[in-house]
Amino acid sequence: MTRVYNFCAGPAALPTAVLERAQQEMADWHGKGLSIMEMSHRSKDYVSVAEKAEQDLRDLLAIPDNYEVLFMQGGASSQFAMIPMNLFRGNSAEDFVADYLNTGQWSTKAIKEAQRYGRVNVAATTEHNNFTSAPSQAELKLSAEANFVHYTPNETIGGVAFDYIPDVGDKPLVADFSSSILSEPLDVSKFGLIYAGAQKNIGPAGLCVVIVREDLLGKTIPGTPTMFDYKVAADNASMYNTPPTYSWYLAGLVFEWLKEQGGLTAMAAVNRRKAEKLYGFIDANDFYANPVAIANRSIMNVPFTLADDALDKVFLAESEAAGLLNLAGHRSVGGMRASIYNAVEEQAVDALIGFMGDFARRHG
Ligand code: PMP
Repeated sequence: MTRVYNFCAGPAALPTAVLERAQQEMADWHGKGLSIMEMSHRSKDYVSVAEKAEQDLRDLLAIPDNYEVLFMQGGASSQFAMIPMNLFRGNSAEDFVADYLNTGQWSTKAIKEAQRYGRVNVAATTEHNNFTSAPSQAELKLSAEANFVHYTPNETIGGVAFDYIPDVGDKPLVADFSSSILSEPLDVSKFGLIYAGAQKNIGPAGLCVVIVREDLLGKTIPGTPTMFDYKVAADNASMYNTPPTYSWYLAGLVFEWLKEQGGLTAMAAVNRRKAEKLYGFIDANDFYANPVAIANRSIMNVPFTLADDALDKVFLAESEAAGLLNLAGHRSVGGMRASIYNAVEEQAVDALIGFMGDFARRHG
């Protein structure tokens, strides 16, 4: 078996050990004579898999008991609607108001969706510098009336990350952790709600994990679909309808793998080392550049440009030939981007740096 180095932003690399285990268990799960995919989600065996996945995630993130863990569908994009539907407060759209911080394309999408249901106060934006930094705490213009505050701790496209958790007083803080969940330890108690599409650091696509404080449940705005009501999901252990059983199972294998690696403190040390190496190389080499403010550089998504963008296609062709895949930047911004999630090993980053050095020598 030959595995390439995969720098895809999502669906992203999965640990080889996890894929091998899934392969072993594929046709005959634990000697039961059928695949986990073929089991009722209500069977004792499947429920044990689902519950273990939840418990392992709780252990990894030290999730307090007063938080529900929901395994939802519809990707992180559906959360852009579910969050306002569940967290706006008041009697009508005139009452509904929330603060949103805008640090890039994903925050912008979340804002647009929330505006369909109520008022959004953009409490800070870094559009003026083309989304190459995150606002400081002092720059946040939070409103007294906001029902909640939403932000994107790690912007996957721009590679911009907050280096602090915003202090929003007693307002529920809501965070889109799609591209950075499980990359380092997190104080969940600081948040009202955390959500993350699975296809980066959790598992395959088809699943979106929501971690929500219990007291926020049960107050949806009128017209909220049953399937979008967090309380319905919580009351039914995320099985009001048929969940994406295979994605949930595979996420469980990833959580087990993370525990075997030593948990999130160990992952964070490796992730920081990987990112420091790559940014260090980019900064030291005139041929490459990254525009993001140093304090706000993402440790998961590293965008970079070449000195001459006419060489972009050559870079992509040559890197692919060298077994380094999916280095193209997001289609909206071009350039390059290396996503270096948990499952992207340090040796992949070393190989990338080796290739980049060689490419710059030959073309610079
Ligand atoms: N938020 C962020 C930060 C993302 O990176 C993505 C996906 N790249 C999304 C939301 C949307 O996720 P999904 O495709 O699961 O809807």
